[in-house]
Amino acid sequence: MATNEENQNSTNKKTMEQCYENYILVDVGANLTNKKYSRDLESVIQRARDSGVQKIMVTGTSGKSSKEALRLTRIYPGTLYSTAGIHPHDAKSYTDESWNELKLVASNPECVAVGECGLDYNRNFSEPSEQRQVFRKHIELAIEINKPLFVHERDAHEDLLEILDQYKGQLPPVLVHCFTGTAEQALTYLSRGFYIGLTGYLCKDKSDVGVRKLLVDGSIPLDRLLVETDAPFMYPNTRASKLPLHVKDGLTERSLTFLHRYCTFQRNEPCSLPAIVEMIAAFMNKKPEDVALATSFNALKLFGLSQ
Ligand SMILES: [Zn+2]
Repeated sequence: MATNEENQNSTNKKTMEQCYENYILVDVGANLTNKKYSRDLESVIQRARDSGVQKIMVTGTSGKSSKEALRLTRIYPGTLYSTAGIHPHDAKSYTDESWNELKLVASNPECVAVGECGLDYNRNFSEPSEQRQVFRKHIELAIEINKPLFVHERDAHEDLLEILDQYKGQLPPVLVHCFTGTAEQALTYLSRGFYIGLTGYLCKDKSDVGVRKLLVDGSIPLDRLLVETDAPFMYPNTRASKLPLHVKDGLTERSLTFLHRYCTFQRNEPCSLPAIVEMIAAFMNKKPEDVALATSFNALKLFGLSQ
Protein backbone atom coordinates (compact mmCIF):
# COMPACT_ATOMS: atom_id res chain seq x y z
CA MET A 1 0.00 0.00 0.00
CA ALA A 2 1.20 3.49 -0.77
CA THR A 3 1.97 5.76 2.12
CA ASN A 4 0.43 9.21 2.35
CA GLU A 5 3.69 10.72 1.40
CA GLU A 6 3.89 8.59 -1.71
CA ASN A 7 0.36 9.54 -2.65
CA GLN A 8 1.21 13.16 -2.17
CA ASN A 9 4.31 12.79 -4.28
CA SER A 10 2.42 11.19 -7.10
CA THR A 11 -0.24 13.90 -6.97
CA ASN A 12 2.46 16.54 -7.12
CA LYS A 13 4.09 14.76 -10.01
CA LYS A 14 0.80 14.61 -11.87
CA THR A 15 0.19 18.32 -11.35
CA MET A 16 3.69 19.05 -12.59
CA GLU A 17 3.19 16.87 -15.64
CA GLN A 18 -0.07 18.59 -16.48
CA CYS A 19 1.74 21.83 -16.15
CA TYR A 20 4.30 20.80 -18.73
CA GLU A 21 1.75 19.28 -21.06
CA ASN A 22 -0.12 22.54 -21.19
CA TYR A 23 0.67 25.55 -23.24
CA ILE A 24 0.52 28.92 -21.58
CA LEU A 25 -1.84 30.97 -23.70
CA VAL A 26 -3.62 34.31 -23.73
CA ASP A 27 -6.94 34.66 -25.54
CA VAL A 28 -6.95 38.33 -26.54
CA GLY A 29 -10.58 38.33 -27.67
CA ALA A 30 -13.53 36.46 -26.21
CA ASN A 31 -17.07 37.82 -26.00
CA LEU A 32 -17.75 36.45 -22.54
CA THR A 33 -20.54 38.95 -21.91
CA ASN A 34 -22.56 37.17 -24.57
CA LYS A 35 -25.78 35.78 -23.12
CA LYS A 36 -24.75 32.31 -24.28
CA TYR A 37 -22.44 32.19 -21.25
CA SER A 38 -24.84 33.57 -18.69
CA ARG A 39 -25.54 30.20 -17.11
CA ASP A 40 -22.09 28.68 -16.79
CA LEU A 41 -19.41 31.33 -17.16
CA GLU A 42 -17.55 29.92 -14.17
CA SER A 43 -17.13 26.53 -15.91
CA VAL A 44 -16.21 28.17 -19.19
CA ILE A 45 -13.37 30.03 -17.47
CA GLN A 46 -12.26 26.98 -15.54
CA ARG A 47 -12.10 24.91 -18.74
CA ALA A 48 -10.10 27.65 -20.39
CA ARG A 49 -7.59 27.53 -17.53
CA ASP A 50 -7.43 23.73 -17.63
CA SER A 51 -6.67 23.88 -21.35
CA GLY A 52 -3.79 26.30 -20.76
CA VAL A 53 -5.50 29.63 -21.42
CA GLN A 54 -4.23 31.62 -18.47
CA LYS A 55 -5.63 35.01 -19.34
CA ILE A 56 -8.58 36.19 -21.38
CA MET A 57 -9.44 39.63 -22.68
CA VAL A 58 -13.19 40.11 -22.66
CA THR A 59 -14.28 42.15 -25.66
CA GLY A 60 -16.50 45.17 -25.11
CA THR A 61 -18.66 45.84 -28.16
CA SER A 62 -21.11 48.43 -26.81
CA GLY A 63 -21.44 50.74 -23.84
CA LYS A 64 -23.34 48.07 -21.97
CA SER A 65 -21.09 45.12 -22.78
CA SER A 66 -17.95 47.18 -22.08
CA LYS A 67 -19.29 47.92 -18.63
CA GLU A 68 -20.21 44.30 -18.10
CA ALA A 69 -16.78 43.16 -19.33
CA LEU A 70 -15.15 45.45 -16.78
CA ARG A 71 -17.39 44.00 -14.06
CA LEU A 72 -16.20 40.50 -14.95
CA THR A 73 -12.56 41.51 -14.55
CA ARG A 74 -13.32 42.34 -10.92
CA ILE A 75 -14.68 38.84 -10.32
CA TYR A 76 -11.68 37.15 -11.95
CA PRO A 77 -8.75 39.46 -11.25
CA GLY A 78 -5.52 38.44 -12.93
CA THR A 79 -7.39 36.13 -15.31
CA LEU A 80 -9.83 38.42 -17.08
CA TYR A 81 -9.10 41.80 -18.65
CA SER A 82 -11.46 43.88 -20.72
CA THR A 83 -11.71 46.23 -23.67
CA ALA A 84 -14.15 49.12 -24.13
CA GLY A 85 -15.63 50.11 -27.44
CA ILE A 86 -18.53 50.24 -29.85
CA HIS A 87 -18.59 47.63 -32.60
CA PRO A 88 -18.99 49.19 -36.08
CA HIS A 89 -22.34 47.37 -36.36
CA ASP A 90 -23.53 49.50 -33.47
CA ALA A 91 -22.08 52.81 -34.61
CA LYS A 92 -25.63 54.01 -35.22
CA SER A 93 -26.37 53.77 -31.50
CA TYR A 94 -23.65 56.30 -30.62
CA THR A 95 -24.67 59.18 -28.37
CA ASP A 96 -22.45 61.74 -26.62
CA GLU A 97 -23.83 60.61 -23.30
CA SER A 98 -23.03 56.94 -23.82
CA TRP A 99 -19.62 57.90 -25.13
CA ASN A 100 -18.79 59.73 -21.90
CA GLU A 101 -19.73 56.62 -19.96
CA LEU A 102 -17.58 54.48 -22.19
CA LYS A 103 -14.64 56.80 -21.62
CA LEU A 104 -14.98 56.26 -17.88
CA VAL A 105 -15.03 52.50 -18.34
CA ALA A 106 -11.98 52.67 -20.62
CA SER A 107 -9.98 54.61 -18.04
CA ASN A 108 -9.94 51.71 -15.55
CA PRO A 109 -6.67 49.77 -15.32
CA GLU A 110 -8.41 46.41 -15.95
CA CYS A 111 -9.57 47.75 -19.30
CA VAL A 112 -6.50 47.24 -21.45
CA ALA A 113 -7.59 48.38 -24.91
CA VAL A 114 -9.93 50.70 -26.77
CA GLY A 115 -12.29 48.72 -29.01
CA GLU A 116 -13.66 46.70 -30.46
CA CYS A 117 -14.01 49.41 -33.01
CA GLY A 118 -13.46 49.85 -36.70
CA LEU A 119 -15.28 49.37 -39.98
CA ASP A 120 -17.48 46.56 -41.26
CA TYR A 121 -18.78 47.07 -44.79
CA ASN A 122 -19.71 43.40 -45.05
CA ARG A 123 -23.17 43.86 -43.69
CA ASN A 124 -23.40 47.61 -43.14
CA PHE A 125 -25.63 47.37 -40.08
CA SER A 126 -24.62 51.00 -39.55
CA GLU A 127 -24.04 53.53 -42.31
CA PRO A 128 -20.38 53.61 -43.44
CA SER A 129 -20.20 57.34 -42.74
CA GLU A 130 -21.41 56.77 -39.17
CA GLN A 131 -18.94 53.93 -38.76
CA ARG A 132 -16.05 56.13 -39.85
CA GLN A 133 -17.05 58.90 -37.47
CA VAL A 134 -17.34 56.59 -34.46
CA PHE A 135 -14.09 54.86 -35.38
CA ARG A 136 -12.32 58.24 -35.29
CA LYS A 137 -13.67 58.84 -31.78
CA HIS A 138 -12.09 55.56 -30.67
CA ILE A 139 -8.73 56.39 -32.23
CA GLU A 140 -8.69 59.75 -30.52
CA LEU A 141 -9.61 58.17 -27.18
CA ALA A 142 -6.89 55.54 -27.52
CA ILE A 143 -4.34 58.28 -28.21
CA GLU A 144 -5.64 60.33 -25.29
CA ILE A 145 -5.50 57.54 -22.70
CA ASN A 146 -2.57 55.78 -24.37
CA LYS A 147 -4.08 52.32 -24.66
CA PRO A 148 -3.84 49.99 -27.66
CA LEU A 149 -6.57 49.93 -30.30
CA PHE A 150 -8.52 46.72 -30.77
CA VAL A 151 -9.69 46.97 -34.36
CA HIS A 152 -12.34 45.07 -36.32
CA GLU A 153 -12.23 45.26 -40.12
CA ARG A 154 -14.39 43.47 -42.64
CA ASP A 155 -14.37 44.40 -46.31
CA ALA A 156 -13.15 47.87 -45.39
CA HIS A 157 -9.38 47.55 -45.61
CA GLU A 158 -8.71 50.69 -47.65
CA ASP A 159 -10.96 53.04 -45.72
CA LEU A 160 -9.67 51.73 -42.41
CA LEU A 161 -6.08 52.25 -43.45
CA GLU A 162 -6.81 55.71 -44.79
CA ILE A 163 -8.29 56.79 -41.48
CA LEU A 164 -5.51 55.25 -39.37
CA ASP A 165 -2.90 56.85 -41.62
CA GLN A 166 -4.33 60.25 -40.76
CA TYR A 167 -3.12 59.66 -37.20
CA LYS A 168 0.33 58.46 -38.22
CA GLY A 169 3.00 59.12 -35.64
CA GLN A 170 0.47 59.41 -32.79
CA LEU A 171 -1.09 55.96 -32.85
CA PRO A 172 -0.77 53.59 -29.91
CA PRO A 173 -0.19 49.91 -30.78
CA VAL A 174 -2.91 48.62 -33.12
CA LEU A 175 -4.26 45.08 -33.17
CA VAL A 176 -6.28 44.06 -36.21
CA HIS A 177 -8.35 41.43 -34.49
CA CYS A 178 -9.85 38.31 -36.11
CA PHE A 179 -8.07 39.03 -39.35
CA THR A 180 -10.03 37.63 -42.33
CA GLY A 181 -8.53 39.52 -45.27
CA THR A 182 -5.95 38.65 -47.91
CA ALA A 183 -2.26 38.04 -47.29
CA GLU A 184 -1.54 41.23 -49.19
CA GLN A 185 -3.75 43.26 -46.89
CA ALA A 186 -2.06 41.71 -43.86
CA LEU A 187 1.30 42.75 -45.25
CA THR A 188 0.07 46.33 -45.50
CA TYR A 189 -1.03 46.23 -41.87
CA LEU A 190 2.31 44.73 -40.84
CA SER A 191 4.16 47.44 -42.77
CA ARG A 192 2.37 49.99 -40.58
CA GLY A 193 3.62 48.17 -37.48
CA PHE A 194 0.19 46.75 -36.61
CA TYR A 195 -0.37 43.40 -34.92
CA ILE A 196 -2.52 40.63 -36.37
CA GLY A 197 -5.01 38.55 -34.36
CA LEU A 198 -5.91 35.11 -35.69
CA THR A 199 -8.90 32.94 -34.80
CA GLY A 200 -10.58 29.70 -35.84
CA TYR A 201 -11.40 31.49 -39.11
CA LEU A 202 -8.28 29.68 -40.27
CA CYS A 203 -10.46 26.61 -40.82
CA LYS A 204 -12.99 28.53 -42.87
CA ASP A 205 -10.52 30.32 -45.11
CA LYS A 206 -10.33 28.35 -48.32
CA SER A 207 -8.79 31.01 -50.54
CA ASP A 208 -5.33 30.73 -52.05
CA VAL A 209 -4.44 34.28 -51.12
CA GLY A 210 -5.71 34.53 -47.55
CA VAL A 211 -4.60 33.88 -43.99
CA ARG A 212 -3.19 30.42 -44.73
CA LYS A 213 -0.91 31.78 -47.43
CA LEU A 214 0.31 34.41 -45.02
CA LEU A 215 1.30 31.73 -42.52
CA VAL A 216 2.76 29.30 -45.04
CA ASP A 217 4.86 32.05 -46.62
CA GLY A 218 6.22 32.92 -43.21
CA SER A 219 5.36 36.57 -43.83
CA ILE A 220 3.92 37.15 -40.40
CA PRO A 221 6.69 37.51 -37.83
CA LEU A 222 6.01 35.78 -34.52
CA ASP A 223 6.45 39.06 -32.68
CA ARG A 224 3.40 40.54 -34.44
CA LEU A 225 1.04 37.65 -33.97
CA LEU A 226 -1.70 37.31 -31.36
CA VAL A 227 -4.25 34.55 -30.92
CA GLU A 228 -7.89 34.72 -29.91
CA THR A 229 -11.06 32.68 -30.10
CA ASP A 230 -13.63 35.46 -30.65
CA ALA A 231 -15.86 33.05 -28.72
CA PRO A 232 -18.78 32.28 -28.96
CA PHE A 233 -18.07 32.90 -32.66
CA MET A 234 -15.40 31.55 -35.03
CA TYR A 235 -15.59 27.90 -34.02
CA PRO A 236 -12.47 26.22 -35.42
CA ASN A 237 -13.94 23.42 -37.47
CA THR A 238 -10.96 21.09 -37.62
CA ARG A 239 -13.06 18.56 -39.49
CA ALA A 240 -13.08 20.86 -42.50
CA SER A 241 -12.01 18.60 -45.32
CA LYS A 242 -9.73 21.20 -46.86
CA LEU A 243 -7.30 21.31 -43.96
CA PRO A 244 -3.97 19.94 -45.18
CA LEU A 245 -3.02 16.59 -43.69
CA HIS A 246 0.03 17.90 -41.83
CA VAL A 247 -2.17 20.50 -40.14
CA LYS A 248 -4.69 17.88 -39.05
CA ASP A 249 -1.81 15.75 -37.83
CA GLY A 250 -0.48 18.67 -35.81
CA LEU A 251 -3.55 18.64 -33.59
CA THR A 252 -2.98 16.85 -30.30
CA GLU A 253 -5.52 14.61 -28.67
CA ARG A 254 -5.52 16.89 -25.67
CA SER A 255 -6.52 20.03 -27.56
CA LEU A 256 -9.08 18.12 -29.64
CA THR A 257 -10.68 16.79 -26.48
CA PHE A 258 -11.32 20.32 -25.22
CA LEU A 259 -12.54 21.37 -28.64
CA HIS A 260 -14.91 18.49 -29.27
CA ARG A 261 -16.16 18.07 -25.76
CA TYR A 262 -17.04 21.68 -25.03
CA CYS A 263 -17.15 23.77 -28.22
CA THR A 264 -19.72 23.85 -31.00
CA PHE A 265 -20.65 26.02 -33.98
CA GLN A 266 -23.32 27.59 -31.80
CA ARG A 267 -21.00 28.25 -28.91
CA ASN A 268 -17.26 28.31 -29.22
CA GLU A 269 -15.23 28.67 -26.00
CA PRO A 270 -11.76 29.97 -25.06
CA CYS A 271 -10.66 26.36 -24.44
CA SER A 272 -10.52 25.93 -28.23
CA LEU A 273 -7.44 28.16 -28.32
CA PRO A 274 -4.85 25.35 -28.01
CA ALA A 275 -6.28 23.73 -31.17
CA ILE A 276 -6.09 27.07 -33.00
CA VAL A 277 -2.48 27.55 -31.94
CA GLU A 278 -1.55 24.06 -33.10
CA MET A 279 -3.04 24.75 -36.52
CA ILE A 280 -1.30 28.11 -36.83
CA ALA A 281 1.98 26.44 -35.87
CA ALA A 282 1.49 23.65 -38.42
CA PHE A 283 0.78 26.15 -41.22
CA MET A 284 3.87 28.12 -40.20
CA ASN A 285 5.92 24.97 -39.88
CA LYS A 286 6.84 25.88 -36.33
CA LYS A 287 6.44 24.20 -32.98
CA PRO A 288 3.14 24.98 -31.21
CA GLU A 289 5.11 25.69 -28.02
CA ASP A 290 6.98 28.44 -29.84
CA VAL A 291 3.79 30.01 -31.18
CA ALA A 292 2.23 29.78 -27.70
CA LEU A 293 5.21 31.40 -26.04
CA ALA A 294 5.56 34.20 -28.57
CA THR A 295 1.86 35.09 -28.73
CA SER A 296 1.50 35.08 -24.94
CA PHE A 297 4.55 37.26 -24.56
CA ASN A 298 3.15 39.65 -27.19
CA ALA A 299 -0.17 39.84 -25.35
CA LEU A 300 1.46 40.52 -21.98
CA LYS A 301 3.67 43.19 -23.45
CA LEU A 302 1.18 44.86 -25.76
CA PHE A 303 -1.67 45.09 -23.27
CA GLY A 304 0.42 45.30 -20.11
CA LEU A 305 -1.34 42.31 -18.53
CA SER A 306 -0.01 41.76 -15.03
CA GLN A 307 1.74 38.42 -14.53
ZN1 LIG B 1 -14.72 41.62 -34.51
